[in-house]
Amino acid sequence: MVTQTRPLTLAAEALAARLVAGQKWLTEAARTLDSQPHEWTAMRRRFADALDWWWQAEERLRTYGFSGCIHGTGRSCPLDAEVWCLSCLERSRRQERAVQGRLAA
Ligand SMILES: [Zn+2]
Repeated sequence: MVTQTRPLTLAAEALAARLVAGQKWLTEAARTLDSQPHEWTAMRRRFADALDWWWQAEERLRTYGFSGCIHGTGRSCPLDAEVWCLSCLERSRRQERAVQGRLAA
């Protein structure tokens, strides 16, 4: 049986790759900021700008019809990443609801 998947546009693939790189940068920047006391104002501003860009790019990616994780089919965002893609966030929320449902039952 052949599984048919809709080919992604190059724009979507390129954007997903940039999101993966951005996720890595944000995670490393967050670790740096956590380890530094109050001084790093410029770095904090850069981090906030990068985070804004990241979420806007994530939403744009979904308008291309991209589904699943930015890391690719069957993969997921690293657990310790500073941000998770919308697909991983949604999966995490579903799991959380399932756990809560079991606890409430
Ligand atoms: Zn993901």
